[in-house]
Amino acid sequence: MLAFIGLGSNLDNPRNQIDQALLVLDQASGVELIQVSSFYRSKPLLDMPGPDYLNIVCKINTSLDALELLDLCQHIENKQHRVRDVRWGSRTIDLDILLYGDEVHQTERLTIPHSEMINRSFVLLPLYEIEPALELPIIGPLKRCLEQLELSDIDKI
Ligand code: ATP
Ligand code: MG
Ligand code: MG
Repeated sequence: MLAFIGLGSNLDNPRNQIDQALLVLDQASGVELIQVSSFYRSKPLLDMPGPDYLNIVCKINTSLDALELLDLCQHIENKQHRVRDVRWGSRTIDLDILLYGDEVHQTERLTIPHSEMINRSFVLLPLYEIEPALELPIIGPLKRCLEQLELSDIDKI
């Protein structure tokens, strides 16, 4: 199954955090890393305090089901010392499953397509970079989502 994961970090050397998470993802059994976007820099959401974020999106091929993939993402977050105190607070690493094939999930543990992705330039821009013709289940063409978004708050680096 093809899937897209959004990675973000704003603590403890974000570039290394993201590289490390990609390495572990690629080495995990049942996961093959296919493509990785450029890095994008943006300010924290909702004027939260904290350093700027780096974000990327990657495309994987996986034999894991969606919940197994979530387990793997959370395992990587824990190994990289992700601490959850404030919602949307600063973090060493965040891995969100954006899309898992054409599947739609709406459970307490897992919402796919990711519930906030269409509102986030730091998700849609890197996703567009690696898959411009993408059609999002329920939502429609990625290109149309991007047209409705403010893009001045983010830098490709
Ligand atoms: P946001 O989801 O707004 O980006 P966040 O990534 O900071 O916020 P987390 O603390 O990483 O939020 O995750 C909170 C919960 O979200 C997790 O326990 C997980 O079960 C749930 N979740 C639901 N859908 C997804 C998804 N598509 N990818 C990752 N986690 C998800
Ligand atoms: Mg997130
Ligand atoms: Mg998350």
